[in-house]
Amino acid sequence: MKGFTTKALHTGYPKKDVHGALRPPLYDSVAFEFENAERIQEAFEGKLPAHTYSRISNPTVEDFETKIRVLTGSRGVIALSSGMAAITNVMLALCSAGSNIVSSRHLFGNTISLFEKTLGDWGLEVRYADMNNPGSIESRIDEQTRVLYLETITNPQLEVADISVVSACAERAGIPLVLDGTLTTPYLFSSRDYGVAVEVVSTTKYVSGGATGVGGIVIDNGLFDWSRSSKISPLTGQYGQFAFLAKLRREVFRNCGSCMAPHHAWMNTLGLETLALRIQKSCDNAMEIARFLAGQEKIRGVNYPGLPTSQSHAVAARQFNGRFGGLVAFELEDREQCFRFIDSLGIIRNATNLNDNKSLIIHPASTIFSEYSVRERRDMGIADNMLRLSVGIEDLEDLTDDIKNGIESI
Ligand SMILES: *Cc1c(COP(=O)(O)O)cnc(C)c1O
Repeated sequence: MKGFTTKALHTGYPKKDVHGALRPPLYDSVAFEFENAERIQEAFEGKLPAHTYSRISNPTVEDFETKIRVLTGSRGVIALSSGMAAITNVMLALCSAGSNIVSSRHLFGNTISLFEKTLGDWGLEVRYADMNNPGSIESRIDEQTRVLYLETITNPQLEVADISVVSACAERAGIPLVLDGTLTTPYLFSSRDYGVAVEVVSTTKYVSGGATGVGGIVIDNGLFDWSRSSKISPLTGQYGQFAFLAKLRREVFRNCGSCMAPHHAWMNTLGLETLALRIQKSCDNAMEIARFLAGQEKIRGVNYPGLPTSQSHAVAARQFNGRFGGLVAFELEDREQCFRFIDSLGIIRNATNLNDNKSLIIHPASTIFSEYSVRERRDMGIADNMLRLSVGIEDLEDLTDDIKNGIESI
């Protein structure tokens, strides 16, 4: 099996179903029983690979994890309750009080809040660097730096760093590069080919398929030598290069109760089967809409990595499997025009999610970034006259008709 969708459809279930069911059943069970006391002891000691309790592992969740592992060619995968749980678990596993991380400036809003407030209270320091400038990254790394962190496509700035340049900085410093690949997913971006140590993805977005449930994954690409990580190296004696995954599964993930619900894993597995098809349609629609908007007089600016006018165009064209994602940002005159535009739409819905099957629009400054001051928003690149459109898989003509109505209303 070579292709993404073939693998998503035909990667075998860990155990054959007793009835030969082609769609594996959903194991909504918390506990699993054993033949005798010795067997359950072996399971607890990790000598017998078996499920004991669903906060640690579950057959339906394992099926989803296995499929992602095969699709990414990675060492191992852990599925979690949300994208934020995935990011939190990775940071808790790799950092301690007094550690610092070096990160891109432009981050998902809750990730900034996690780094600065939640983990900041426990002694983590965040140092922001320009990911397009290796000198800026390297000047911020010191003895206490535990992670280099970035997102594949920043949102809503839609900036794309050259990830092989960033991973070379991490490699030279001997620290793991952790990448949030939510906006690209392993279908658009093969993080393993670019030297990324750990990828986190919010499956809530593209993967779930129709925004059915909140979830996340942590992918260990198997590239980083964990004996170089101060927190993980003590475990390499027992677990070898599986030490990072063991740290999560047998400690952080288990203790924080970050498990993905079996029902969500089941929905996500279904989502994987059509992921490539849905991403292709969403990205193709986004490309056409970006071109259409760029030709409209009343639209002041269009930002989409697929447009040659985007600063990220060349690097995105190299990195992302020939497509440019489903998000388009554009500018009108002011906030009032943005609100009128949103309110005149019929098909495109006003909601905060992204990469849903449905097209969604939002005014970031007054919603996702409303907790920040005007100045902070300016530093983050969140303009008051900017709209973010997440392009779904609807028929293109219906979307362009809707947008035409929006433009007429302003
Ligand atoms: C949505 C999102 C997250 C958080 O994911 P949840 O599943 O909502 O917790 C993290 N990073 C990015 C880039 C996202 O878009």
